[in-house]
Amino acid sequence: MKEELGVKQFDRIVRIPSPTGFDVGDINSYVILPQEGSKQLVLIDTGVGREVAWQALQAGLGQFGFSIKDITLVLLTHAHTDHFGQAPRIRRESGCEIWGHEVIHKSVADYLPEPPRIEMEKDFFRRLGYDNDMYDKIFEYRDFVGDIFELCELDKTLVDGDVIPIQDFELQTIHTPGHCAEEVVFWQAESRQMFSGDHLLPDITPVCLLDIPDEPRGVRVHSLSQYYESTDKVLPYDAKYIYPSHGDVMQDHRELIAGYKLATERRLLKVSRIMEKHGSLTPFEVGQYLFPKAWESEPYAVSSEVMGHLDMLVDQGYSSVRDDGDVFRYSLISVPDPGAIFQAVIF
Ligand SMILES: [Zn+2]
Repeated sequence: MKEELGVKQFDRIVRIPSPTGFDVGDINSYVILPQEGSKQLVLIDTGVGREVAWQALQAGLGQFGFSIKDITLVLLTHAHTDHFGQAPRIRRESGCEIWGHEVIHKSVADYLPEPPRIEMEKDFFRRLGYDNDMYDKIFEYRDFVGDIFELCELDKTLVDGDVIPIQDFELQTIHTPGHCAEEVVFWQAESRQMFSGDHLLPDITPVCLLDIPDEPRGVRVHSLSQYYESTDKVLPYDAKYIYPSHGDVMQDHRELIAGYKLATERRLLKVSRIMEKHGSLTPFEVGQYLFPKAWESEPYAVSSEVMGHLDMLVDQGYSSVRDDGDVFRYSLISVPDPGAIFQAVIF
């Protein structure tokens, strides 16, 4: 069990953790305190829509003489429930605005999809080798997700490069898709500080969630490759402090990203060896070999990991994929050389 982080102040930034009820543990919300004489109180990410998270936020703000009523702007790094769950309630309480990346609306709508979308998702997973029971397991979280957030409209949509006007603390929006399509990182240039959301996390490697296209059998984003394009984007920033959504403040994102790449290379080798040993496999079968325990208990994360790595192997010519119209099967062409992967296509 990880030690609780607690409320902490870094100059104008206050970290307020709140419990999520998920395995990930607490989520960090960050408050940017107003300048002398200003009423601008900015909150980055909110915590889940549960009373316990509300109380944690209220108590944290209270330590600095503020309450939720004083919040003027909520910024969202992305639309996972632990990040935006309380946003509508905060807006009702304070009259604040809520800003986030423009594709958030679509991501949120997919949390609780309509029947045609569900049929399409079932077909999508069938083609990866999953049966309908496994499909139900993948989306089990939908049974309770409605209880911890409510849909909310953004007051302003952000795109890459947008500047958020905060007095003496302007933030730049950097779009960093990969973990999910709408993920953004906020950069404060003068003080060289970065709010990294779930894009960069100190203790866990961000899962790059499997993209399920809107159209039946539509084109799928290769999330893991996209994630590394995004890390490439943030590498040049000379960050002094990085504030992640989970875990403690970090100082060296370059070292962190180098570690992620090593872990990815290792897993690519592992997936290659599985195909070498067992021949042509469906993604579902790869997942069973790659994660002998988690394939059953965490099927969404496993399918995301498997597809991310299979996509990279195919994109770089190490694996082939055959679509027999019913299911996809992947076969090894050659085992990649360690170290070759990140010099190849992406970088
Ligand atoms: Zn997330």
